[in-house]
Amino acid sequence: MDAGSSTTISNSRSDNIDEQDEDESGLWMAEAIYTSDSDDTNIEFGQVLPDALEQDPTGASKMPTDTQLSNPTALEVSVSTCGQFIFAPDISIARVALKDLETILRPRRVSGIGHKPFPFHDDDVLRNRLDMMQAFLQLYRDTTNNLGWKAASLVAARTWNRGEAAARLLRKWTRSFIEDRDTLPFNLYGTWNTSLLHSGDLAQDIFAHLQTIGKYVRAQDVVDFVCTSEIQEQYSLMKTISLCTAQQWMNLMHYRWTKEPSGQYSDGHEREDVVAYRQEKYIPAIVELQQKLRCWNDGLEELQGGSPAGGRNVVIWYHDESIFYAHDRRTVRWVHETEKAVPHSKGEGASLMVADFVSADYGWLHSPDGKDSARVLFKIGKGRDGYFTNEEIMKQTRTALAILEKYFPDDDHVFIFDNATTHQKRPDNALSARNMPKYPSKRSNFMATCNEVGTDGRLIYRADGKPAKKSIPMAGARLHDGTPQDLYFPLTDENFPGKFKGMVNILIERGYHHADKLRAQCDPGFKCTPGARSCCCRRILFNEPDFANVESNLGSLCRSHGVHLLFLPKFHCELNPIEQCWGYAKRVYRESPKSSKESDLEHNVIKALESVPLDSIRRLVNPSVSADHLYLLNIHRFATRALRFSDAYSHGLNGKQAAWAAKQYRGHRVLPNTIMQELTKNKI
Ligand SMILES: [Zn+2]
Repeated sequence: MDAGSSTTISNSRSDNIDEQDEDESGLWMAEAIYTSDSDDTNIEFGQVLPDALEQDPTGASKMPTDTQLSNPTALEVSVSTCGQFIFAPDISIARVALKDLETILRPRRVSGIGHKPFPFHDDDVLRNRLDMMQAFLQLYRDTTNNLGWKAASLVAARTWNRGEAAARLLRKWTRSFIEDRDTLPFNLYGTWNTSLLHSGDLAQDIFAHLQTIGKYVRAQDVVDFVCTSEIQEQYSLMKTISLCTAQQWMNLMHYRWTKEPSGQYSDGHEREDVVAYRQEKYIPAIVELQQKLRCWNDGLEELQGGSPAGGRNVVIWYHDESIFYAHDRRTVRWVHETEKAVPHSKGEGASLMVADFVSADYGWLHSPDGKDSARVLFKIGKGRDGYFTNEEIMKQTRTALAILEKYFPDDDHVFIFDNATTHQKRPDNALSARNMPKYPSKRSNFMATCNEVGTDGRLIYRADGKPAKKSIPMAGARLHDGTPQDLYFPLTDENFPGKFKGMVNILIERGYHHADKLRAQCDPGFKCTPGARSCCCRRILFNEPDFANVESNLGSLCRSHGVHLLFLPKFHCELNPIEQCWGYAKRVYRESPKSSKESDLEHNVIKALESVPLDSIRRLVNPSVSADHLYLLNIHRFATRALRFSDAYSHGLNGKQAAWAAKQYRGHRVLPNTIMQELTKNKI
């Protein structure tokens, strides 16, 4: 198809696009707010560029090289929220996307003769948007005009009598579609038939089911779920739904199929206990560290100003795990209802989990020559490497500690971990009042349980596939003066040799002589009056210092090496800059050739991780800056952003306000003292 025919298509549609509900302040904005965290500023040759692009006083970075001139689109770069640079999509990639888009707009019949109707025929808004994207891609791939990414979007938008805002959205939709064919610009307020989704509790059932799957949910998971006999029966269905219906439902259920979720507003972010932990534990700890962190001028050079008091800098190492999928560049085919839905058996393909540490000071945690690294690549699943357990985290942390001691002895180090149960695990025999009986028993004995481990150090499994358990005595109790307290009677005891003493005896030994007059625990289910501390035996034990302060395995490991350990507040991924390093690496990963073999997957993942940021961008941005510096530049930005969020919370801002402030003061580590007035002024 040439440019002429695309104009024809555009013109033929120009009469049905001026519908009232689609003006730029209405519907378009609704979606813009929906994904307000992304910032699709386009940079083109000749413009003054922010931050790093302006660094070079010679202006060399603004001058295109010959190769860039011969390929004008290579000069177009976007800056996203986190200060990452994204190239305009490659023309060859855009061509393939255009073909796929045309297949969606005009699906071929199985016979190969003629076309079937557009699968979302009742969604005119979507249809219109897809037509615009088609026109845009046709203009972009047309090499006779060489319009380039941004110009092509403007021309396409103009054909629909729309301006720059529409062009920006058009670029965003198209980019998302190029990255992931699952992502169609659905009209969030459309009129398609949703009666099934809203019948009974189906939407809630689906939501609950998707939550059990975790972070990486797919529309196919909805299809599979609706397919189960349980749901079929409950909602009197004869067949399952199609993949595209599932897509619509996911959109209606407020799932976004865009880039990495920002996660900031997930339920629980402002939950009372989470906020309490954030404000009382995490933020004060960060504020205290703040003085000792290195500062960077423009993210490249360390600011002069001497070392902090005590002469040692603090380096914060953020830890996280992330999963890369072999088939990440999904090419999901849109299946029409009349077609037999073929379950997507391959799914996301093989997966590889990466666990690593990153700091603004040194990047990924490895020795300066790169030979010793704390990075762990892990193949999750049965028959592969198993599951990433607390023991794996401990092993990785030991490696990290050894590297820090050997190569970075002049800094003080802090580890920040995600608040996951695997990270928080306490020793198997750790004190816990949870199930303790009130009195000793002659017949049974109260013990802690732990997984049974074979001589090879691996878990032993029972016939039913579950890990085998064994009982061990609970340990670690201490009286108020610090002397150890044995929770079991001696073997020589007349009545209860070797048996568990029971809560009453334990409390009496601690000076609570009235313990036998108290209940074992308040009913129902240990729900004591809020604030009560001595209402029942279990509550008193819960508040005893040795019970309340059981250290995690990670905590005692780090402490024994003089390294400070912090856990992030739950749901606060904006406080962990490593999230953006993953995001960056995943965008790079998607550009690499398909990982069909596991070895390819591993190779591609490592390559993507090492290329934060892309080295072609490196040359484009500033040829005089060394690769190492640019690599750190982005991590500095990510880390600065996380600290800016910390600062926002220390000012008492809530999640929404913090996100607004973080955006307003991009590039700053701390917010001005007038931030509260500004929030009021802007009604945030
Ligand atoms: Zn109680």
